[in-house]
Amino acid sequence: MSRSAHPAGPRHADVLPEGHYTAPADDLNALDPKVWARTVGRDADGVVTVGGIPVMQLAEEYGTPAYLLDEADFRERARAWRTAFGDDADVFYAGKAFLSRAVVRWLDEEGLNLDVCSGGELATALSAGMPAERIAFHGNNKSPEEIERAVRAGVGRIVLDSFQEIVRVAHIAQSLGKRQRVQIRITVGVEAHTHEFIATAHEDQKFGIPLAGGQAAEAVRRALKLDGLEVIGIHSHIGSQIFDMSGFEVAAHRVVGLLKDIRDEHGVELPEIDLGGGLGIAYTSDDDPREPHEIAKALTEIVTRECEAARLATPRISVEPGRAIVGPTAFTLYEVGTVKPLEGLRTYVSVDGGMSDNIRTALYDAEYSVALASRTSDAEPMLVRIVGKHCESGDIVVKDAFLPGDLAPGDLIAVPATGAYCRSMASNYNHALRPPVVAVRDGAARVVVRRETEEDLLRLDVG
Ligand SMILES: *Cc1c(COP(=O)(O)O)cnc(C)c1O
Repeated sequence: MSRSAHPAGPRHADVLPEGHYTAPADDLNALDPKVWARTVGRDADGVVTVGGIPVMQLAEEYGTPAYLLDEADFRERARAWRTAFGDDADVFYAGKAFLSRAVVRWLDEEGLNLDVCSGGELATALSAGMPAERIAFHGNNKSPEEIERAVRAGVGRIVLDSFQEIVRVAHIAQSLGKRQRVQIRITVGVEAHTHEFIATAHEDQKFGIPLAGGQAAEAVRRALKLDGLEVIGIHSHIGSQIFDMSGFEVAAHRVVGLLKDIRDEHGVELPEIDLGGGLGIAYTSDDDPREPHEIAKALTEIVTRECEAARLATPRISVEPGRAIVGPTAFTLYEVGTVKPLEGLRTYVSVDGGMSDNIRTALYDAEYSVALASRTSDAEPMLVRIVGKHCESGDIVVKDAFLPGDLAPGDLIAVPATGAYCRSMASNYNHALRPPVVAVRDGAARVVVRRETEEDLLRLDVG
């Protein structure tokens, strides 16, 4: 990675403080297509546009902060995953990354399936007309009410996460006179995040049933005996923001090993294998994500090879990308409120949102990029930290980045790649009003999730 504590040609500040920042781009006005949604560009006046609409116009109409979602890009990415995996595999979009009824309809139209992990997500999916048989229900502690709703609705699969849940789902399905299709989620001892994976001891987590010590095999043994369940496969999800396929390689090897043991013990070949999501996207120009067709090819080859070695028919593969579909398709538009240079350190730029609309920086030390959106500038780069307006010094949106030195209150700045885990993790901290999600396509914009109002806040506060 091209990071350094002393980037080439530091300007504006004589001494750069410690930090993980990339040297300023040669042209701060350039928009790296790796991190921006596909229809983003600048118009003749230098204003950033998305779907053909300048952000000045969007800010005027919808206010700031706002999440601006590039619908064409979302559909293209969804379609690319679908096409890459073809008809012999299933792509489940992980709804927790960002879910709204508009998104559900786009997914339905593009032929994707949908993962939900709560009653609220299930309700959203069903209310937008996603066929229940294309919904998978996840979670490590689904309530009996949630399970009953899912079974009644006829969801395509419930992913079982514990010994208690095996019995619980079987019991509920049976009492409703149904046989529920289920997968069993196992932990294979692999954990992958970003560029690294660790292949030992990562069964120490709340999700899944460990392969180690024969627990996963025991779970399958019990589930196969229950009339309320139809066991269709094994599920494994190894991490998030992954760039390196070797974690999947180890996971597939271990999952197929279990399928083989199941065949040897019970004489059944489970027809499906789910390898989860977690594929990485570019948050900064330093990240190099893979294309869906490369991922599909790699995963299909790995599973096919492992199955041939185990003399098993290759099961139907499913994957669950969330971030990789929605992440790059949106950016957050903020207005600059204050610009505070701290001599010899950096310049703090306060925006009209913060950790309430993007908790990832505070929560995961996530990295983001940023651009001046309402105009271009030829001023010298200055090292900035983009911070929010909340009562918390950790309220940081972009930890270290460069913006033009003439940045001033009233400028609009945009933070790309905020489509995943930003609106869906947004909070009302300091009674912030959660920003709207505005979908833009072919020169037309429409609100798909409206901005919260003070009335919304007060409605919940029953006095
Ligand atoms: C979170 C999650 C996903 C999606 O992860 P991304 O990093 O958004 O691709 C997929 N499957 C399961 C089981 C998950 O928990």
